[in-house]
Amino acid sequence: MKFGVIGAGQMGGGIAQVAAQSGFDVVVHDQKQEFLDRGRGVIEKSLGKLHEKGKLADTPEQVLGRMTFTTSLQDFADCDLVVEAIVENEAVKKELFKQLGEIVKLEGILASNTSSIPITALATASGRPERFIGMHFMNPVPLMTLVEVIRGYQTSDATAELVTKTAEKMGKTPLSCNDFPGFVSNRILMPMINEAIQCVMEGVADKEAIDGIMKLGMNHPMGPLTLADFIGLDTCLAIMEVLHQGLGDDKYRPSPLLRKMVQAGLLGRKSGEGFYRYS
Ligand code: NAD
Repeated sequence: MKFGVIGAGQMGGGIAQVAAQSGFDVVVHDQKQEFLDRGRGVIEKSLGKLHEKGKLADTPEQVLGRMTFTTSLQDFADCDLVVEAIVENEAVKKELFKQLGEIVKLEGILASNTSSIPITALATASGRPERFIGMHFMNPVPLMTLVEVIRGYQTSDATAELVTKTAEKMGKTPLSCNDFPGFVSNRILMPMINEAIQCVMEGVADKEAIDGIMKLGMNHPMGPLTLADFIGLDTCLAIMEVLHQGLGDDKYRPSPLLRKMVQAGLLGRKSGEGFYRYS
């Protein structure tokens, strides 16, 4: 099976790496050669670490030997499955899927790793809604086992089955849901994070106490504010907007403090400061 990945960033690089580790031939695309080189560098480093720990069945060279890197979408014509992991922007993703729908062989399946954009809308743009699906990997992909498999309105049973089997071959645990705003993962996670931010704003407790209470009390690996910084506050806000708009219920209203922090450029780890400071 030939596996395609569009976007060599944090998620795309991880998906491509795990697919190649699992024995698939993988082609990876990004817009510029420098983005591909950066993505390849991250993969090489990760493979090196896994090899040192004895967690890799093949050598890093063998895994990399199954991967090709390209800036041409034409190289995806003969792919059986293409997973998209580019910027979280509906218009940009739709344009990409329109092109892929024309390039990838008819029987090929297209999938999106989107965190929040409606799968059914992307499926329509692709021109092949029966062979379109959401394949939502978790960050960091080499370590996290869940793949949320999201069926669009017209996704066929055969498509869902092939994608589920492929995720299993990648050593992941696929769990299925239907296409509603935020799917399952972010519909439940983001309101919790949003409520934690609301608690900071209202002075219910200080941030360390909020994180500590959720960590120790609920046995979560990290508190919701630490997690928000890790995900990126802009991403959290974008997902809350999707829930609010898509479900039309004010219980999903983004916290004004979240909005203000994003306006101030405090985006979490990636900007050096969010609820906490990072050096
Ligand atoms: P990222 O910024 O690390 O990587 C995106 C990559 O896509 C970049 O290398 C960029 O150059 C490339 N790109 C952008 N537009 C492109 C185009 N038109 N064609 C080809 N390549 C293009 O982002 P990321 O964190 O890897 O997120 C990618 C997707 O995965 C998003 O849809 C995001 O919502 C989703 N996602 C992210 C996480 C997370 O925790 N970061 C988790 C699950 C899902």
